[in-house]
Amino acid sequence: MSAMPLEQLRSSVRGAIVQPGDPAYESARQVYNGMIDKRPALIVRCVDVADVIAAVNYGRTNNLLTAIRGGGHNGGGLGTCDDGLVIDLSLMKGIRVDPTACAVRVQGGCTGGDMDHATHAFGMATPGGTVSTTGVAGLTLGGGIGHLTRPYGLAIDNLLEVDVVLADGRFVTADEKRNPDLFWAVRGGGGNFGVITSFLFRLHPVTTVTAGPTFWPIDQTPEVMKAYQEFILKAPEDVSGFLAFLTVPPVPLFPAELHGSKVCAVIWCSTAAPERADRLTKAMRAVGTPVLDHVGPMPFPALQGLFDPLLPPGLQWYWRADFAKEFTADAVAKHLAHARAMPAGLSQVHIYPIDGAAHRVGTGDTAFSFRDANFAVVIVGIDPDPANKQVITDWCKGYFDALHPYSAGGAYVNFMMDEGQERVEASFRENYARLAVVKARYDPANVFRVNQNIRPAAIAV
Ligand SMILES: Cc1cc2nc3c(=O)[nH]c(=O)nc-3n(C[C@H](O)[C@H](O)[C@H](O)COP(=O)(O)OP(=O)(O)OC[C@H]3O[C@@H](n4cnc5c(N)ncnc54)[C@H](O)[C@@H]3O)c2cc1C
Repeated sequence: MSAMPLEQLRSSVRGAIVQPGDPAYESARQVYNGMIDKRPALIVRCVDVADVIAAVNYGRTNNLLTAIRGGGHNGGGLGTCDDGLVIDLSLMKGIRVDPTACAVRVQGGCTGGDMDHATHAFGMATPGGTVSTTGVAGLTLGGGIGHLTRPYGLAIDNLLEVDVVLADGRFVTADEKRNPDLFWAVRGGGGNFGVITSFLFRLHPVTTVTAGPTFWPIDQTPEVMKAYQEFILKAPEDVSGFLAFLTVPPVPLFPAELHGSKVCAVIWCSTAAPERADRLTKAMRAVGTPVLDHVGPMPFPALQGLFDPLLPPGLQWYWRADFAKEFTADAVAKHLAHARAMPAGLSQVHIYPIDGAAHRVGTGDTAFSFRDANFAVVIVGIDPDPANKQVITDWCKGYFDALHPYSAGGAYVNFMMDEGQERVEASFRENYARLAVVKARYDPANVFRVNQNIRPAAIAV
């Protein structure tokens, strides 16, 4: 196909085309992480599938580096690129709940908050993340870890169908029966295989959850971490809670005397009835001497939006991550040392349990390989001031370097920055070779390479 002229693209799309110099350019090029400062040549703000097809064809025929943007939350800034094309889906926010089939169809520009809002009205939810402004698309394509992982699995474990615009501009639907190789690959393999214009998810009866934080002084980390891992891996699946290290923010939600102190925390979420949730978590919440225990019933979307006000777009973020099977006494000691050295402010560490329902799916059943890991660890340096960029980066890298030897080897791709091909392969393990074959079939020229990239098999060989 010869190069498509820009005028032809303009006449083919109903959404906006934004270029450098346009009044909308500066805001349209921003992504969530303020550390990312990329300047695309063209941003196509798609409003429907036809726009996506035109944009994909334009990028390919003009040999433009092409990035796909869902919610724009990716830590490494993989929803944008320098000098290339951004296919921005953030205006594609259609959602349709089918209460009879217990399913929801979500367009590629929806955030977790959009989806939870729509499904909560029907008394249902599907697993997503823990911050409502994150894009459903990118989160799901990497796997999707969150509060509902223990009871209902990863986001991909609830994915029933996707609509995809492929690199050659064709539109296909993939599910267990149609294009099953593609359906396997998009469940964990990221945005490597095409632009997903809509996702169909299974829904579960989730309305009110028993949720909130328990905080301990950071020095009680050894006792809390030991008790936590023993507790959570044996807990019934309707109980979940991720472990965190953080500095208590100076907001009215927390008592003034705790503001600014570093804590070891568990952020709870149980889908059980409140009395059962309280009974099941009581002993763990009483370990050591907690300084705050603020757990109670709340609507599920309220939990999902709990941290939104603290984390507006535009902050500086630097990420590192690993999967872990357990935390030995040595590893716990290193966590404590590095958590104590956490820069003041918003930086934090989250340790998400990824067992329960997520363990009932085999390592080769989807592209997400680390089904035998128990925890996804993410270390994030966060600061509003670009002057502190180096401080949060150095802390994050130092923490990671100290803990990586105790890890399971790879990381959750959605918690990684641009860390090189070896890291990508380590994160897919034995699934990488199969992903490379699927990539060669659906995107042989590696048009979609602004991602944790799977190289098409022919190139890899
Ligand atoms: C504050 C915050 C909280 C987070 N919490 C969680 C959490 O609880 N659980 C969790 O699992 N992750 C979490 N993440 C990580 C998150 O999953 C990744 O950042 C993910 O990439 C975000 O998806 P997005 O659509 O917003 O990103 P974008 O930056 O828009 O896209 C990221 C990548 O996804 C791909 N992509 C996006 N949309 C499409 C599409 N429609 N079709 C094909 N490819 C596409 C592209 O390859 C792109 O490179 C969090 C991130 C942040 C910043």
